[in-house]
Amino acid sequence: MANSYDYDVAVIGSGPGGYVAAIRASQLKLKVAIIEKEKMGGVCLNIGCIPSKALVQQAETFRSITALQNMGVTCDTSGFDYSKVYAASRKAADSLSRGVAYLMKKNGITVFSGTGVIENDHEISIDNSKKISARSIIIATGSRPKEIPGFEFDEHIVLSSTGALMLQQLPKKLVILGGGAIGVEFAHIMNAFGVEVHLVEMMDRILPLEDNESSLFLNKSFQKRGISVYTSTKAVSLVKKDTSAEITLEGPENNRFTITADKILSVVGRVPNTANIGLEKLNIKTEKGFIITGDYGQTEISHIYAIGDIVPTPLLAHVASKEGEIAAEHIAGVETSKIDLTAIPSGVYCEPQVASFGFTESNLKQNNIPYEVASFPYKGAGKAVAINKSEGFIKVIFTPQTHEILGVHIAGTEATEVIHELLLAKKSELVPEDIATMIHAHPTLSEVVMEVARAVEGWAIHV
Ligand code: FAD
Repeated sequence: MANSYDYDVAVIGSGPGGYVAAIRASQLKLKVAIIEKEKMGGVCLNIGCIPSKALVQQAETFRSITALQNMGVTCDTSGFDYSKVYAASRKAADSLSRGVAYLMKKNGITVFSGTGVIENDHEISIDNSKKISARSIIIATGSRPKEIPGFEFDEHIVLSSTGALMLQQLPKKLVILGGGAIGVEFAHIMNAFGVEVHLVEMMDRILPLEDNESSLFLNKSFQKRGISVYTSTKAVSLVKKDTSAEITLEGPENNRFTITADKILSVVGRVPNTANIGLEKLNIKTEKGFIITGDYGQTEISHIYAIGDIVPTPLLAHVASKEGEIAAEHIAGVETSKIDLTAIPSGVYCEPQVASFGFTESNLKQNNIPYEVASFPYKGAGKAVAINKSEGFIKVIFTPQTHEILGVHIAGTEATEVIHELLLAKKSELVPEDIATMIHAHPTLSEVVMEVARAVEGWAIHV
């Protein structure tokens, strides 16, 4: 039903927002084109979630050498070659990127390689050489690493997350600027491979968007592993040498100190890719670079949608994908629902992992919302002890009388998997009692969920 247009929907950008939107639109019988200037799959598959998780997995394997040594196995690590770790991470990324190309073909989606620029509200030029028209347009151009003035990326000494993923040799000493999810994951990876890591965060705690308890717990766990964590500390200046740099930091009491390291990894945020894509011509406004949209992703021009890292919802792959799904369904005119910001899971893939959704205690305090808290330690679950991963906790924040789940915060092994049972409960408007009374297999990590649900009801068994 393309009418006088070449396509029903044209999607700019093939990250987890764009490619999911394209597939969903095609499933709904729309004629779809997607335009991508780099590799299919966007940041997530190529230079984000997937290669970083491949490194996390291999870091864990490397850490298990200690477990083998504890069994009396003599481990000779002298042949260790980090370039092989890098190669395995690229293999995972490339394979998934090819998978997206396959999915485009399977769903009959036309792929254009090149840079898309919106020329008018129904036309997009590709590399200034070709034009296509579409009844609706979905902008999914994603984001790029943010630079700190004076610490610009050269990808030799000062690395972005992309530069860090492309390292083929380990640095000896690494300063990481930014204690958010990406910084924390790299701190974990590099420390596991024996790099001396200094993690610097400007706010008063690492993972500042997470619940205070998760931040403090991880900070303690990192310090125990030998990662130096500096909070309320900012980078002041940098003197680069050939193969190293001296970085001056300023701590909480305005105390200045210098660290010499061979690499500086700067991961202090992301910048939405909303410049030079034609928004100015259409009068689509941005706020701090982000496009403001309606409930279903519509911009000020109702048949042009924006999704993913370019809109001011959490910069996460699964959020981009959900927004893609919603936009495609809205364009197709089928029933859809707006994104529920209180039920977005977030995960940090270090060890122990951190995962959460909903309100933190400080959010609730600031808004004077009454709440209660129940928590349960991982060490109360047989499986966690049996697999020697008993550090951590699960915490549920709930309404006082009705026990409605307001937020969940987990710091512990496999937290990013464990969280989903509680998220489903929240989404299905179940209460913790429903989980508390459900039989959970023993021994499993899911038992920590059952026990915290019992704790909400005041009768946790294994504490
Ligand atoms: P992107 O994935 O950024 O894709 C946008 C695409 O658009 C790109 O391929 C780009 O080349 C293309 N493009 C841009 N402009 C044009 C144009 N004019 N014409 C044609 N093509 C264009 N999120 C998680 O949920 N979990 C994680 O574990 C996680 N880990 C991460 C680790 C790292 C190191 C990084 C950097 C990010 C991580 N993220 C993670 C965030 C996640 O990658 C992003 O939220 C997600 O990729 C955003 O998807 P998107 O579709 O909006 O855009």
